[in-house]
Amino acid sequence: MSYIEITGARENNLKNVSLKIPKRQITVFTGVSGSGKSSLVFDTIAAESQRQLNETFTAFVRNRLPRYGRPDADALENLSPAVVVGQRRLGGNSRSTVGTITDVYALLRLLYSRVGRPHAGFSNAFSFNDPAGMCPECEGVGKKIALDLDRALDRSRALNEGAILLPNFGVGTWYWKTYALSGLFDNDKPLRDYTGAEWELLLRGRGPDVRFETKGGPVHQKFEGLLDKFDRLYIKRDIDTMSNREALFRFVSDEVCPLCAGARLNQAALSSKIGGRSIAELAAMEIRLLVDVVAEITEPVAATMVEALLDRLRHLISIGLGYLTLNRETSTLSGGESQRVKLVRHLGSSLADMTYVFDEPTVGLHPRDVSRMNDLLRELRDKGNTVLVVEHDRDVIAIADHVVDVGPGAGGDGGEIVYEGDVSGLYRAAGLTGGHLRRDPPVKRDFREPTGWLTVAGATAHNLKDVTVSFPTGVLTVVTGVAGSGKSTLVGEVFLARYPQSVAVDQSGVSTSIRSSPATYTGLMDDVRRLFAKACGVSPSLFSFNSAGACPRCQGLGLIYTDLAFMEGVTSVCEACEGRRFREEVLAHRLRGRSVHEVLEMTVGEAAGFFTEPRPLRTLRALEEVGLGYLTLGQPLSTLSGGECQRIKLAAELRKKGGVYVMDEPTTGLHMADVEHLIAVMDKLVDGGNTVIVIEHDLDVVKSADWVIDLGPDGGDLGGSVVFEGTPERLLRARDSLTAEHLRRDLA
Ligand code: ADP
Ligand code: ADP
Ligand code: ZN
Ligand code: ZN
Repeated sequence: MSYIEITGARENNLKNVSLKIPKRQITVFTGVSGSGKSSLVFDTIAAESQRQLNETFTAFVRNRLPRYGRPDADALENLSPAVVVGQRRLGGNSRSTVGTITDVYALLRLLYSRVGRPHAGFSNAFSFNDPAGMCPECEGVGKKIALDLDRALDRSRALNEGAILLPNFGVGTWYWKTYALSGLFDNDKPLRDYTGAEWELLLRGRGPDVRFETKGGPVHQKFEGLLDKFDRLYIKRDIDTMSNREALFRFVSDEVCPLCAGARLNQAALSSKIGGRSIAELAAMEIRLLVDVVAEITEPVAATMVEALLDRLRHLISIGLGYLTLNRETSTLSGGESQRVKLVRHLGSSLADMTYVFDEPTVGLHPRDVSRMNDLLRELRDKGNTVLVVEHDRDVIAIADHVVDVGPGAGGDGGEIVYEGDVSGLYRAAGLTGGHLRRDPPVKRDFREPTGWLTVAGATAHNLKDVTVSFPTGVLTVVTGVAGSGKSTLVGEVFLARYPQSVAVDQSGVSTSIRSSPATYTGLMDDVRRLFAKACGVSPSLFSFNSAGACPRCQGLGLIYTDLAFMEGVTSVCEACEGRRFREEVLAHRLRGRSVHEVLEMTVGEAAGFFTEPRPLRTLRALEEVGLGYLTLGQPLSTLSGGECQRIKLAAELRKKGGVYVMDEPTTGLHMADVEHLIAVMDKLVDGGNTVIVIEHDLDVVKSADWVIDLGPDGGDLGGSVVFEGTPERLLRARDSLTAEHLRRDLA
């Protein structure tokens, strides 16, 4: 057996650790969040593999690649090139779809260019990203932005009362006058009383000259209907570059392209068919169904293409994504879905002896789909690759050939290897991971009584099948169901739209400023500045990152970012301040012996021991409660994972009362010990008079709920219905629920 050998690793909190990882095997890394798993797997092993790989390129290429610093370690030996399959969302514009990103659409295009009838050309003729194939009206996007009249007009008002809500159309403005002074309308008549002809005139009228007086003199203008005017003024120009685009975006919505009806392609491409179906029809089918259609293509010339297609499609299905369509835009996929789509891309590659690194691949997966995910990890290994997985899921830990448990605690209390060996040994081992694997909490028996109900009626968004369901208030509700069953649609879209005062505590990034840190985000920095100012008799602003006190070279970042157009940017420590972010004079000011930089270097836990003042303490305690005691106060928020972003938002909310909180898989990135912690935080929120609704697959959370709403029965078109609602105790007895089935198995 050969091994990756790591000697004396010291990145972030790692305490000079040495270990051997078997190659061509699956190694799972466990440990509480903040224990150092990512520091070991991503910042040390993957970073060094990348760096060594980059060194093999010529200087010309190398100068154009991100520069990876050598990780802090004595030696790293026997590495192979690493591919990180992380949760970074795929993003991209509306031209990037599940089909294009997995190369499945390229295979389909090839297929149509060979066996499609009538012949439309070669494969570019089927590309919606190529002028040869794209719909001329929407240029291959399948939709167009248009004025949304429901938002732009208040039909209960008359023109004189400001019926047109668009910016620049207020009563008395130039644009308003072109309508109100046209003599075509009764300016005191509410729009809802307009006749059909009046509506037509207002929206699409052309015509007579309108004259009116302005300060600058008389104006003559041709009358132009509101839709045409808006088109001309805004849509036909590039709305993205306008200064008032934020305001304008509130009044537009995407509408399906009238020419191609969303198919993105021109008529020539759409008329070419295989088995009576166009390529756009295939791209709009759920992959689960598409696979059967493709299997029916039997033309001998197509055999190899069909085989390659089936291989990819079956991989997508086995990874629990059979409910997606190829034309689904990648920017609308969740982090977990993105990671699994990327995995499929790599399964199609024939490279062997690579190191694949995964960051919690089970995110967003129902227990039902985890075993299929496991099959794919095994498949990668059996092709001769080394598979490294950071994961907390019991079922994934169970398939590991080798386990490395990092801990024992988080931050400074972690950074050591607590256990390495096979899985059965981990179950017997001391420490938090072994301890949690051995015990399995029972379903809760004491349910809180709802204080009321929030009802959603007749929901039909995406796959929802006319769903009417009530969410209890004053309790903890968990929404379950396999991936694609409709949980995010029901909770994240329909419920939030119906009850807009609810607070969504989601995993999206928390800030757009690269200067943001846990300290700035939670308001703690204001306290820090105030306390320093008081102790040193200077102005608080001196301690701002954007003040004269900040290092002029890096503007208080401590880091220098270099943007690269087509890759992740490169970061290096600022040479002027050596990463200390402030001018020497500012660093000389001390609070209880510490400089502002030293305070920002403290973890939340350390700071909770340093500050004695109630305000900062309250904030720090809230951060500790959500399990973020290991973060340093000044760590850039951009280095936080989705799960950490969600918990930092949760901490900021803990101080409020009486709200409805909605969360999407808050256990992401959490070890079983942290999950217990998180459940306690949610219980505390509910006990404080709040309502908590969470989408969750983690069975420990399901067992702790007061109420469960289970969607299904399956994903995509086969889902979208409520299959169970009630207490988890009753869920145990439910039939036809995949969640119930897995809960019973877990408790067996
Ligand atoms: P895990 O992956 O086990 O959750 P990490 O390796 O991400 O843990 O973190 C280990 C410790 O190192 C934590 O205390 C974390 O706050 C710290 N850390 C991680 N990344 C950075 C960074 N870029 N800058 C400063 N500290 C970091
Ligand atoms: P879950 O949260 O249970 O995984 P979702 O609510 O994300 O399920 O998805 C339910 C269905 O709606 C799936 O078929 C999914 O592909 C579809 N869907 C979700 N979001 C979008 C979107 N932005 N555009 C098109 N279809 C979507
Ligand atoms: Zn079109
Ligand atoms: Zn600097």
